[in-house]
Amino acid sequence: MIKSDTITLIVPCYNEEETLELFMKAVLETQNKMPDVFIELLLINDGSKDGTLNQFHILAQKYPDRINFLSFSRNFGKEAAIIAGLEHAEGEWVGLIDADLQDPPELLIEMHRLITEEDYDVAATRRVDREGEPPIRSFFANLYYKINNHISDIYIEEGARDYRLMNRAVVDAILRLPERNRFSKGLFSWVGFDVAYIEYPNIERSAGETSWSFTSLFSYALEGLMSFSEMPLNIASIIGFISFMIALIYGVFIIGKTLIYGPTTPGWASLAVLILGMGGLQLLCLGIVGRYIGKIFIESKQRPLYLIKEKHQVEDDSHTE
Ligand code: UDP
Ligand code: MG
Repeated sequence: MIKSDTITLIVPCYNEEETLELFMKAVLETQNKMPDVFIELLLINDGSKDGTLNQFHILAQKYPDRINFLSFSRNFGKEAAIIAGLEHAEGEWVGLIDADLQDPPELLIEMHRLITEEDYDVAATRRVDREGEPPIRSFFANLYYKINNHISDIYIEEGARDYRLMNRAVVDAILRLPERNRFSKGLFSWVGFDVAYIEYPNIERSAGETSWSFTSLFSYALEGLMSFSEMPLNIASIIGFISFMIALIYGVFIIGKTLIYGPTTPGWASLAVLILGMGGLQLLCLGIVGRYIGKIFIESKQRPLYLIKEKHQVEDDSHTE
C-alpha cells in the first residue's frame, strides 16, 4: 500500500546510538517547514553493537505514527540496508539519508519541490568540497571517480552522495535489479530517469565515528568498478598481448644474434627475467578473472541480501489511502 503525500526516509544505522536523537530533532524541524507532506522514518539497524535498536524503541514510543524500523540479524552493510529500506518503504516519495546529519534534512524541502513542481524523478545530492576529510582520502576518492567515469558503463557524478529523494517509479526500477553485488550509486545511475543535483558543502559527522576504513572503502570502490565494467578484464588481455609480442620480438632477436655471433653463455639472466615477468602477468590476469568469477559465484548462490530479526511497521491510518 502506498501512502500518499508521504515521504519515507530510509535511514541505515550502524552504531548510531548517539546521533539518532539529534537526527530526529532535525527531521522534525524540517517537517514543520513542510506542512503539506508527512515525513515518516524507516530506520534500519544494520547489526549495531551499541544501543541503536534500543533508541529505535524509544523513538517509536515517542513518535508512534512516524517511526518504522527493521533490525537485521547481523551487520549486512549499508547497501543491504538501502535495499531493505526500498523494499519496505511505503511513502509516495522515498528518501535515502544518513543518520549522522552529514545529510542535512532541510534539503528535503528543495528536493521535494524539484520532484513535485519541476517534474524530476530524483533529487540527488553532491558534495562540493571534502572539508574535514583526510586529504589522502579525498585524493583517492577523486582519482576513483575519474577512473570510473573513464572505463565504466555508467557515469557517477563526482562527490555524489547516497542522499536522495525519489518517486515511486524510480524505487520500482531499482527493485527490479536482482543482483547481489550491489553498488547503489551505480544502480541509481544505471536506471536513468530525470535527476536533479543539489550541491552542498561537506558537513562533519555530528557524533559517533565513520564506519568506513580505508580497506572497506577500497573494496567498495572496486565493487563499483567491477559491477559496471568489463574493462579490467580487457586490461588483463591487453597487457598479456603486449608482453607476449615483446617476448616474441625478443625471441627472434636472440635467435638471430645466436645465429650470427654464435652462442653466448650468460643468457640465463634474461631468461629468468622473462620467466618472472610472464609469470607475474599470468597471475595478474588470473587474479582479475578470479574476481569476476567470485562475483558470479556470489550471484549464483542467490542468498538473501539481509535477514530481518525484528520489524516494527505502523499500519493504518490517517496518512494512508
Ligand atoms: N552504515 C550502515 N552499515 C554499515 C556502515 C554504515 O548502515 O555497515 C550507515 C551509517 O550508520 C550511516 C551511513 O551508513 O548512517 C553512512 O555511514 P558513515 O557515516 O559511517 O559513512 P561516511 O559518511 O563516513 O561515508
Ligand atoms: Mg557519515
